[in-house]
Order: sequence, then structure tokens, then C-alpha cells
Amino acid sequence: MKIIDPHIHMSARTTDDYEAMAAAGVVAVIEPAFWLGQPRTSVGTFQDYFSSLVGWERFRAAQFGIRHYCTIGLNSKEANNVPLAEQVMELLPLYLAKEGVVAVGEIGFDEMSSAEERFYKAQLELAKQVELPVMVHTPHRNKKQGTTRSMDIALDYGLPAHRVVIDHNNEETVKEVLDRGFWAAFTIYPKTKMGNERMVEVVRKYGPDRIIVDSSADWGVSDPLAVPKTARLMIERGIPVEHVEAVCYRNAILAYGQSGQFSESDWLSPAAIDQRNLFEGNSVLRGQSPRIDEPQAEEAGIIR
Ligand SMILES: [Zn+2]
Repeated sequence: MKIIDPHIHMSARTTDDYEAMAAAGVVAVIEPAFWLGQPRTSVGTFQDYFSSLVGWERFRAAQFGIRHYCTIGLNSKEANNVPLAEQVMELLPLYLAKEGVVAVGEIGFDEMSSAEERFYKAQLELAKQVELPVMVHTPHRNKKQGTTRSMDIALDYGLPAHRVVIDHNNEETVKEVLDRGFWAAFTIYPKTKMGNERMVEVVRKYGPDRIIVDSSADWGVSDPLAVPKTARLMIERGIPVEHVEAVCYRNAILAYGQSGQFSESDWLSPAAIDQRNLFEGNSVLRGQSPRIDEPQAEEAGIIR
């Protein structure tokens, strides 16, 4: 089965992770722009980070057989540094127009502060202008209230629910999110919060429509194989294969495909891997012999 992980911070992960993910069936990932742990102090560090999401990381992923896409946005935590946030807002239109950017995100609430609300609203306006979907991060505290408020504001700002993915759901939030017509994404955490056993029961209860599974793996305790592991557990527990395919692959294409930047043809006939390739003078090689795959027939100019 093909798998997409539509929320994973690969910049924080290793090439071993890319190889393990590809071996487990992951064909494409979406890396949302987020907080890096260390608070940023100048707009230049945001600029370089956004550049790496649309540049180097996309290249690095392809060298290990995975298509990489991203979302660009000002995360909720750093929205609280208002003077810096104002400068970041000015950068966003440039990066939202880049190839492989599939949404504005991840944006929304962390502490539910007024600054977070201000920049969430400003970015919803931007998403409307550039006609991109939105990936919404919901707070880990005040989850229910924060989720409801995020949806209220998105609708007030004229974003149709079908263009908005509400992430980090749990059993308390999922019903309202689905009833209101939004996409409901779930982050599978290895130790806490939403585990994969619970995810199986959510899909059994609500069915597969508009539900999306992701790992949100980053530099913290997390599992880059959370989506393939959850898919396997669902099948073992008797969830129909078409439902598993919907929540671990197909729905991500339907949601983020609305950007016009995320389509199955990208990974069904990818360019052959050649690890001798360079990105701005750099390769992924560190002394190992490069992986060089044979080009597929069409690519080599052979008509089948
Ligand atoms: Zn995230």
C-alpha cells in the first residue's frame, strides 16, 4: 500500500528515516513550517528556513526516493514575538508561490493569545488571496475550545471548510470538525496523546471520509513510521483496506491537491535516483557509493 505522511518535520530527521519510510511504503511527505525549539531572533533565519523547505530538503528527500512538499506559514508560538512576526508576514507571499508549497501552515493557536489570533487571521486572509488550503495547528492545552475557535474564525474569514485541515484532533474534537465539513487530521504520538490503537477506533466509528493520519515527527519524541504502523494495525484490526488507504494516502491528496501542487503523477513516475546529483554544489554523499537507479523507460526516451 502507498502511504503519505502529510505532516512531518523531516529537517529534524536523518537519512536513515527517509530510507525506512520509503521501505515502509511512504511515497510523499508534507513538511509544515513550524517552531524550531530555539526561538528565532531575526527574519533572516525564517527566510533561510523557508528556503531550505522548498530547496535543500526537497532535494534531499528525492535522493532517498520520497517526494517532499511543504506548507509555509508563521507558527503560533512565534506569532507572540510581534515585531518579528510582522517581518515574517512580509516574506510569506514570496514563499507561498514556490513550487511544492501545498498550503499555508501550520498556523493557529498555542496559548490562545491575542497576537496568535491576529496573525492567524492575517494568514487566513493570505490563504484566500493565494488560493491555497490551510493547515491548522490546534493547541495541546484547551484543545476543544481552541479547535472550535480556530474553525469559527476560519469560517468568519470566508475560508470554505473543505479547504481547511484541522490537525492534532482527538476523540473530543473529531465529531465537531467532521460535522462542520473540515478535514480532520490526527497526529499519532508514540507515547502520549493520540496513539495508534485509539486511531483505529476513531476510523471504525467515524469511517474514512475527511480523516487524515500523520506523524508530526520532529526533533522531539516521535515516530517517522507512525503512519505505516497505524495502517498495518488498522488492517490487523479489521478496518477495510479501502478505508485504510483513504486515511493514510488518498485523503491527503484530496485535501492538499486543492493547491494544484500535489498530484499522484509526481511519485508514480518519479525521476530515477542519482545520488551524484548536486543541489547548489552539495550532494547527500558522505563517502558511501552513490545509489544510481536505472531511469524508467519513458525517461530514457524509450517508447513502450
Ligand atoms: Zn508540526
